[in-house]
Amino acid sequence: MVDLSSFFTENPYFSAGFGLIGVGAGLAVLRQGARRGADLMRRQLLVSMEIPSHDKSYQWVLGWLSRRGVHTIRAAETGQNITWMQKRIAKAVLPRHLAVQTSYKQHDNGSVSTNFTMVPGQGKHIFLYNGSFIQVDRQRNAKMIDIQTAAPFETVTLTTLSRDRVVFSQILAEAREHALAQNEGRTVLYTSFGPEWRPFGLPRKKRLLESVVLDRGVSEGIVADVNDFISNEKWYDDRGIPYRRGYLLYGPPGSGKTSFIQALAGELGYNICILNLSERGLTDDRLNHLLTVAPERSLVLLEDIDAAFTRTRQQSEQAAYQQSMVTFSGLLNALDGVASSDERIIFMTTNHIERLDPALVRPGRVDVKVFLGNASPYQTCKMFERFYGTEYADLAREFSKKLDGHAASTAQLQGHFVVHKKNAQSAVDNVRELIELPGSH
Ligand code: ADP
Repeated sequence: MVDLSSFFTENPYFSAGFGLIGVGAGLAVLRQGARRGADLMRRQLLVSMEIPSHDKSYQWVLGWLSRRGVHTIRAAETGQNITWMQKRIAKAVLPRHLAVQTSYKQHDNGSVSTNFTMVPGQGKHIFLYNGSFIQVDRQRNAKMIDIQTAAPFETVTLTTLSRDRVVFSQILAEAREHALAQNEGRTVLYTSFGPEWRPFGLPRKKRLLESVVLDRGVSEGIVADVNDFISNEKWYDDRGIPYRRGYLLYGPPGSGKTSFIQALAGELGYNICILNLSERGLTDDRLNHLLTVAPERSLVLLEDIDAAFTRTRQQSEQAAYQQSMVTFSGLLNALDGVASSDERIIFMTTNHIERLDPALVRPGRVDVKVFLGNASPYQTCKMFERFYGTEYADLAREFSKKLDGHAASTAQLQGHFVVHKKNAQSAVDNVRELIELPGSH
């Protein structure tokens, strides 16, 4: 009889074979164990925060990171406040792969300014924040598209040790503060982008209210009315009245309608959402939605409100379709919108109030109508003094007298003073240039 056990143990081929299988299996188990262990450790020790690109804080965090990157490099190079080990690691893993984000702005006079910001590019970066290492993973998912903006879907994921999880809220708060501080003293202009509002260009420096010269008491009257509205939310609430107010500024072009709204926003610390009703692809639904989701503390500005409807009414349906799909009743519905109980301040401007349908300008839709006309003698003198100084008050009166009731818009006055900016006397002597301007009479 053959002893099987001695056959296996004594046969050198068999024992070698078994040995190999055993080692292989053992290694596989170890490897799997190590992977599981690493997973477990990652789950237990690390914590992540994912910020998708459609979230408001996405741009804030990217902006904050770009600033942070510079600090990390400096800290790593100078070795300030960090240990030798941290310095070595930071140097090895600094966010070197940067992407550029360019903002481009065309000024009213046609000049263009651009601003470049370095933001962390796609991939992984590590930086130090208050003694904690944080990994940033910026990923783009080419297969997923944000349907609202048609931009590829992106995420930024921050990962750190569990014990340091509090840094996330600190980072978010700092990023938000940083973003808001950049807008401090500035007015953000929003335009519609699909169903949402997007900042348009860089925030602009606030325009001072005094820089827009309206007729006596007009500016003060509007400011007082808006302030009264803003501070009376409870009054509206208690009476169940929708908390909104509509203003219509009308008058000839160049009388300062748009400039005044911009200055008013600056004065109130509000932003401006500009909507052009003739915009292609704007529908009743989108208009309604946009008015409901306008960012907090913003003035909604509907410019040249007459243009959208006089044209659509006169042209064929096909042409109207190509222009804009907002109907007049759609606009009225949007203005009356019941969906939102939030504060809503709407400014409308027109050069032709006579073309507006009375239904549009009735109280509730337009509560305050203000005429901004051509420069009155009061405005003329005041603008003159703003340009050349109050010591030229006599010359200002002479200038106004020489204009002799000729209707010049405040924009035309501004143009004239810019041409003669070095010499107040020459502005007076050449007043004919203004009188002979095409369009003035
Ligand atoms: P509107 O909207 O009435 O057509 P804008 O506000 O666009 O006029 O004004 C055009 C230009 O003229 C701007 O550069 C603005 O600074 C200047 N302007 C017009 N009216 C005034 C005003 N009343 N005071 C100061 N500047 C004015």
